[in-house]
Amino acid sequence: MKDFPTFVTHLECGWTGERVAADRLHNLSPQGYPLLVRYDLAGVAKALSKEKLKARAPELWRYRELLPVRRAENVVSLGEVMTPLIPLAKLARRAGGGEVLVKDEGRLPTASFKARGLALAVSMAKELGVTKMAMPTNGNAGAALAAYASRAGIETIVFCPGDTPQVNMAEIAAQGARLYKVNGLINDCGKLVGAGKEAAGWFDVSTLKEPYRIEGKKTMGLELAEQLDWRLPDVIFYPTGGGTGLIGMWKAFAELEAIGWIGKARPRMVAVQASGCAPIVRAFEQGTRRAEAWANAHTVAAGIRVPAAIGDFLILDAVRESGGFAIAVDDDAIVAARDEVGREEGLLLCPEGAATWAAYKEALARKLIKPSDRCVLFNCADGRKYPLPDAGASLDRHKPIDYGRL
Ligand SMILES: *Cc1c(COP(=O)(O)O)cnc(C)c1O
Repeated sequence: MKDFPTFVTHLECGWTGERVAADRLHNLSPQGYPLLVRYDLAGVAKALSKEKLKARAPELWRYRELLPVRRAENVVSLGEVMTPLIPLAKLARRAGGGEVLVKDEGRLPTASFKARGLALAVSMAKELGVTKMAMPTNGNAGAALAAYASRAGIETIVFCPGDTPQVNMAEIAAQGARLYKVNGLINDCGKLVGAGKEAAGWFDVSTLKEPYRIEGKKTMGLELAEQLDWRLPDVIFYPTGGGTGLIGMWKAFAELEAIGWIGKARPRMVAVQASGCAPIVRAFEQGTRRAEAWANAHTVAAGIRVPAAIGDFLILDAVRESGGFAIAVDDDAIVAARDEVGREEGLLLCPEGAATWAAYKEALARKLIKPSDRCVLFNCADGRKYPLPDAGASLDRHKPIDYGRL
């Protein structure tokens, strides 16, 4: 395989803008903030065209000029397909809304969009010689790490809250990671990774504590733009935990503008959280740039149960610059939204994805968005990964059956 044409120039502290050298192993910036990858975008503009892109396989690596991996042999892939946009025509009409498209990320390897981030993080870890990786997880990130790292021959250790969805714990272990269930939340698990990494020699792959998961999640923005023929939607509803995807998409749009593929227009970015854990919503409403940690975090939407996000300011900056907003929905609304979309549209959302449909309806009712807005909702994982209500009735085949009444 030929080496990738690569354009990374350096990394940059997300808070101070200070430059850091590329091609070395990094966690946070020297100042303790997330690092962002910077490219020679003039070079990318010369090397890549929309036409050239069209001819490539429908997968994440089609955007390789805008990705950090330097050598093709380091790509760790499980088949990162482009995910479809599924219209919710019937329900949107009923809600009095306009065009609503669900980007269904549940189709990716390991059945969640964490595959995008971890495909890049693990490929870069391989490129930079990492042999052991550790992570705190609410489930899906650990599953994706386990899958990609095992494939790359990298050892992994994963810490998750004890009440993480059962399927997630099983898949993490089945895909070769050492899994520990911790009596605490994800930030407690994160502290264990931090405390053990020196002694155990783990590379810390916590959300935003290494630079490349954002680059993987960025492909959601690139893909969305391409799928909509380089015309971005009016509003994006994103279920926000650590915020990697929202930050990544915002970065993608800036890079697309810099290479001249889109104009200045941007979607309004909407951070959706659960009312039981809504630090970003509270900070948005209070007008602050950092978010205070949320006490006693609880929600059925495990993927967005993140009491404190290290990239809070990057999320809040993007939401504000875009003219968007942050909105919280409660667990009852999340469960009702999942049931409604499954029953009426045949699409079984994950609770986090269901939160975006609940938020869409709420935003429409509160006139935060217009019925004419073209909106994209993110369904981040396959709904079948989560506990579902018991269903069906028993039937005794040895007794007489009144078929007309079934
Ligand atoms: C991780 C996760 C989220 C939150 O994504 P971030 O980009 O980290 O904010 C939402 N939903 C699901 C299903 C997840 O696994």
